[in-house]
Amino acid sequence: MTETARIPEHGRRPDEILAEIDQIRSDDIDWRSGRAFSLVYNVGEQAHEDLLEAAAVRFLHENALNPLKYPSLLQMELDVIAMAADLLGTDADAGSFTSGGTESIFLAVQVARDHNREVRGIAEPEVLAPSTVHPAFAKACRYLDLELTLIPVGSDGRADVDATAAAITDRTGLMVGSAPCYPYGLIDPIPELAALAAERDILFHTDACLGGWLLPWWERLGEDVLPWDFRVPGVTSISADVHKYGYAFKGASTVLYRSRDLLRHQFFWYDDWPGGLYASGTTAGTRPAPPIVGAWTAINHLGVDGYLRLTERVRDTTRRFQAGIEAIDGLAISHGADLPVFEFGSDVYDMAAIADVMDDRGWNLDRQQGGLHLMVSPAHDQIVGRFIEDLADAVAHHGPSRGEQAVYGSIA
Ligand SMILES: *Cc1c(COP(=O)(O)O)cnc(C)c1O
Repeated sequence: MTETARIPEHGRRPDEILAEIDQIRSDDIDWRSGRAFSLVYNVGEQAHEDLLEAAAVRFLHENALNPLKYPSLLQMELDVIAMAADLLGTDADAGSFTSGGTESIFLAVQVARDHNREVRGIAEPEVLAPSTVHPAFAKACRYLDLELTLIPVGSDGRADVDATAAAITDRTGLMVGSAPCYPYGLIDPIPELAALAAERDILFHTDACLGGWLLPWWERLGEDVLPWDFRVPGVTSISADVHKYGYAFKGASTVLYRSRDLLRHQFFWYDDWPGGLYASGTTAGTRPAPPIVGAWTAINHLGVDGYLRLTERVRDTTRRFQAGIEAIDGLAISHGADLPVFEFGSDVYDMAAIADVMDDRGWNLDRQQGGLHLMVSPAHDQIVGRFIEDLADAVAHHGPSRGEQAVYGSIA
């Protein structure tokens, strides 16, 4: 058991502090080895990492609360929003920079709540979403005191359009689809869902936290991508994380609206205190500057050609993972997903036991109810062969047989 920390009576020496930091972080996940499949999107290019660090450290002590005092940060923030808007297909000023996907979703839900109250006269609007939607929606609804109705997805793992249509009520204020959803990496039928919403003046949010900075490049590489962005009529807001496949460090997301008219519900002006006028456009007050700088730097450093190059690497590596997994008897990619985020499972083996063996070999596999989850980054092209070898070995020597499966069957 560790002792409860106390403020040291005397300040400690820098070298001692750094040594302690290095010592306590030695047990942290080592994503640079390519053996992590979530949390960090590893480009595997030192020059990109070095540049982000050099840019961010210049702004470590600044405060993005008041952009008027920081023309530099204002410029970079507006640039990131405009570049995201261009990517997703809306007006350059119709969005916000936020601290992450959760805040982006939070704001889209709050905008929907207030739009429904003001424009549609619905005091208690409800949110309708597929059961694969990210927990951030449940969290936002809990905090904002809105009712969330989850509709079970179809047998194909995607949102069930008919069941969704049947669940719409007079109070439905926001409908949601994912591009793609986190658990399976599947894109919901956004055009059909958004059409249901548009016919009834209901707002529709595409959660592209994962796909926002990936699918546009995937499409440009010639791959089939189900429509999900502002080209789809009825989509009124989209969340897209720069700190995922945008390859910036953490604290960087964007939320975009079909029009700035919706965005205005986020704006907060206040002078009912002695401290003068206070204005903000997102949930935070004092805001760290490095994420803004990091996002701006990442996008400018990579550019379209850089994103296409990294996406090609991710695509080819994903196909190697998926072919390798499918070649192992008894394993399958859930719902046949073909994006770099997917689940694989088995009717035969206990996947939790296989994950334990893989963990013992240094892989960090994320367990889901139906199998194991992989999120592929560019740097995984270095380890895919070894991963498949270890997985085949884990299955061959450690997977329980069909008979034993009865014992394990319900754990997965
Ligand atoms: C990551 C993610 C979120 C939440 O984003 P955070 O940055 O973790 O707050 C929401 N939706 C999807 C699909 C995601 O993958």
